[in-house]
Amino acid sequence: MSYISMNLVTMFYLIASVCFIQALKGLSSPATARTGNAFGMSGMAIATITTVALIFKLQAQAASTGGLGFGLVLLGVVVGGGIGAFAAKKVEMTKMPELVAAMHSLIGLAAVCIAVAVVAEPWVFQITTQGVALPFGNRLELFIGTFVGAVTFSGSVIAFGKLSGKYKFRLFQGAPVSFAGQHMLNLGIAIAIIALGLVFCFAPGVEPAWTPFIIMAALAFVLGVLIIIPIGGADMPVVVSMLNSYSGWAAAGIGFSLNNSMLIIAGSLVGSSGAILSYIMCKAMNRSFFNVILGGFGGDAAAAGGGAAQEQRPVKSGSADDAAFIMSNAETVIIVPGYGLAVARAQHSLKELVEKLTHKGVIVKYAIHPVAGRMPGHMNVLLAEAEVPYDQVFEMEDINGEFGQTDVVLVLGANDVVNPAAKDPKSPIAGMPILEAYKAKSIIVNKRSMASGYAGLDNDLFYQANTMMVFGDAKKVIEAMVKAVD
Ligand code: NDP
Repeated sequence: MSYISMNLVTMFYLIASVCFIQALKGLSSPATARTGNAFGMSGMAIATITTVALIFKLQAQAASTGGLGFGLVLLGVVVGGGIGAFAAKKVEMTKMPELVAAMHSLIGLAAVCIAVAVVAEPWVFQITTQGVALPFGNRLELFIGTFVGAVTFSGSVIAFGKLSGKYKFRLFQGAPVSFAGQHMLNLGIAIAIIALGLVFCFAPGVEPAWTPFIIMAALAFVLGVLIIIPIGGADMPVVVSMLNSYSGWAAAGIGFSLNNSMLIIAGSLVGSSGAILSYIMCKAMNRSFFNVILGGFGGDAAAAGGGAAQEQRPVKSGSADDAAFIMSNAETVIIVPGYGLAVARAQHSLKELVEKLTHKGVIVKYAIHPVAGRMPGHMNVLLAEAEVPYDQVFEMEDINGEFGQTDVVLVLGANDVVNPAAKDPKSPIAGMPILEAYKAKSIIVNKRSMASGYAGLDNDLFYQANTMMVFGDAKKVIEAMVKAVD
């Protein structure tokens, strides 16, 4: 029986890598995102099948020494793939960040498990022959891979708990957990990890230095927890994207140990795209990356999705019929979608409303803030799901200049992204770029109550003389508007 040659393996890995690069390119715009996803899925299918074929070959070669457990690998693919498919199918769009956090934790754990296996039996991975010590370079890669993998695992578990907001466990609460000397403790642990790693790398003899390795891994798990607990719930999506980056670097590190080009390339792509995404998110929220990592803004008020009741000030409120009448008589309308629209799953009704208004001759545009919702591009995905034409959808920097000349702005389940408090240097969201809805001639805001948004702040926009609040669930309100526009 003939097995796959190493040249073919390299070629298929190269094809898969090109697919991954195309996937990232496609995902950079809503118009090409589907194609990008198709590339990503094809690349992953090619990489998985090639790896299985490679394992099959290695299994046959190693048959005399008991084999590599091909059955176990297949079981892993079926069980892991099954759970992944089920979770992805079931997850609501608003819960996506927690799913991503849960998946990152598994990547981190996988990196640690692989590193332990390589340290224990490097000859099985064809890194050395039996009885020969692991070279220094491999030990260093394994140390780094284990360290990053362990931090990614425990950090992602905490991030998952904080994002889900369902668990009573204190470390899983959105509010930050901080104590005196926390940063010094983290620094001390980091130094100890490096020292133990060096002991592991320089240890003489053929037998691996398990004691420093295990203590180092245990400390890295603890460090992952300590780094994430002082960060508030509001900053969690940035943290998830940062952990995404870590998980990529962990995979790349293990790829070097295993001499696997596919892991190195895919890991580096994940690592660098995660880092870029974290940077973009920080920029859109006007947050310094180091500030997020060291904990700050996402504090008590901001934690766990806001929702606190605000001071009583008079507001003007109206019905969906009133709003429909105002919009039908306008020349221009800009719609600002936010997190509440995603919660209500009202995107299809919204599209119907816009079609009716457009039919009446009203010019309608959608304005998208880069961090509206709970993940970057959340609103683009939501509108794409309802097949809203891309030419009606405008990014913040392209539409902000138009609000001053617009007749009506309809704010749907958005709060922080239109909060003029960002212009106040004393506000916790000072400097965050916002959609300048407050400049429009009339503003209609739909939300269920006067509760705050994610940053936990009151919003002056709701109290402006030219603002009308329409209270209620976005889906019901929009459906009523659709009827009223007839
Ligand atoms: P916000 O969280 O500021 O506000 C959402 C509003 O929707 C709430 O005030 C809520 O008010 C309302 N709402 C909730 N459910 C419904 C419903 N069923 N029908 C109608 N309204 C509803 O959302 P934004 O999109 O304006 O801002 C996003 C926030 O998330 C920003 O602070 C951003 O920094 C943060 N964030 C976003 C990230 C991203 O990548 N997108 C990453 C990290 C943070 P009520 O309860 O009264 O209905």
